[in-house]
Amino acid sequence: MLCAVKLLSQASAVNPRSRLRYSVGAPPQPGNSRRVANTVLWTCIPLPIDLNHINVWLIESPRGYVLVDAGMSVAVCKEAWEKLDASLLRGKPLRALLVTHAHPDHIGLAAWLQERYALDVWMSQRAYALASSLYSSPQTRREKVAAFLHAHGVTSSTVLQSLLRPERYARTQDELPQVTRFIEDGESIVPEIDDWIALLTEGHSEGHLCLWTEHERTLISGDQILPTISPNISFLYHEPDADPLGAYLASLDRLRQLPANTLVLPSHGLPFQGLHERIDDLRAKHAARLGKLRDVCATPRSACEVRPHLYRRQLSGTHFLLALGEAVAHLEHLVRKGELERLRSDEVVRYRRR
Ligand SMILES: [Zn+2]
Repeated sequence: MLCAVKLLSQASAVNPRSRLRYSVGAPPQPGNSRRVANTVLWTCIPLPIDLNHINVWLIESPRGYVLVDAGMSVAVCKEAWEKLDASLLRGKPLRALLVTHAHPDHIGLAAWLQERYALDVWMSQRAYALASSLYSSPQTRREKVAAFLHAHGVTSSTVLQSLLRPERYARTQDELPQVTRFIEDGESIVPEIDDWIALLTEGHSEGHLCLWTEHERTLISGDQILPTISPNISFLYHEPDADPLGAYLASLDRLRQLPANTLVLPSHGLPFQGLHERIDDLRAKHAARLGKLRDVCATPRSACEVRPHLYRRQLSGTHFLLALGEAVAHLEHLVRKGELERLRSDEVVRYRRR
């Protein structure tokens, strides 16, 4: 599914690995788990995409585990859950599933797990609304993606054909789960065991939830902050005045107020310490991209034309779409700041420096 794959970051000014501390160690093998905090176990679900795994967290409570994220609806993920069922879950039941956001590596197996374990499913209302629009109407989505590609200058029939196959939208996602609780910003998730608080964060995916516990100085960061890749900040077919990059940067500002010694549990990659350093690296990367676009748009350019300035390597399929979406997100952020203006001719949007 489209949004599952995060673009690998282009080389950034600072190697994030050198600034982060990976104190927890290597990931557990599928079917195994490892304790990473007093109330949190870590397990890893393989994924059949470039991003080859998702980290899944199990928050322990007296009534069972609160699972954070599910995996995709594909065989390799179900096999990993079968192994967990025969090991870890024999000792304590699953009680609820909290879905951090609407991308299929996070929500894809939610309905399957809900049916199998009679789980409560929790997520934000906005994330559920996004999931409904993404997965309930593949044809509508296809039309919106086609309009987006045309508006931003994509004319290659090869690219269009590869991106607009209707079946690509339904491969890794079952039907949606029945959400039994909509989680709001600041809400306590499991009040009887600890002070796990939901933090609504934006930019990567609408209604994305992080979870924070002051008591354990631990942040479950979802895809909002990852240790070695830059979360995709995409403007696909948002409403015209959306500013996902601005929303993402504001969420980073909020998360940077958490303590410097926070243990970060990301959805992909290793748990790490160095939250402030990682946020600073991400900010610097986006600032560099914005600077490059200011220069490139001295003459009017479409997003398709500026994309190679941000991503030098050849991209295809989902990677191409996400790179284009990220280019538009940066361009639209500069429009919002009054530094670029939109020009429209031949039904293609071009951006020019003011
Ligand atoms: Zn995601």
